[in-house]
Amino acid sequence: MWTVIGTIAIVAATLGVGLVIERRWGPRRLADAAKPQLHEPGTAPATAIATTPGELELLRRTQQCPKCRAAMEVAADQRVTYDGSELLVLRLACPRCSTVRSVYVSET
Ligand SMILES: [Zn+2]
Repeated sequence: MWTVIGTIAIVAATLGVGLVIERRWGPRRLADAAKPQLHEPGTAPATAIATTPGELELLRRTQQCPKCRAAMEVAADQRVTYDGSELLVLRLACPRCSTVRSVYVSET
């Protein structure tokens, strides 16, 4: 008799823990998976920033170093083809700490 009750208790406890885990981590995991973008805008071809020529000039002059916050300089322009359209890649270099980063731009 006690064996049966014990078994039922273990099953009930397992179900309870399962529900708690599901409630605590389930929905958040789903929300993460539903995030449309994995990269910051401009850091990857898939998230290229759409700019007009004027905005592009502004973008060139206003990039900050992610490490030391100094104004970055455009070291080179490069053109790449991604998903059938041409993208401009600004290669930016930090004059203070030598950090290099790329910004992907699609010109409109
Ligand atoms: Zn820097």
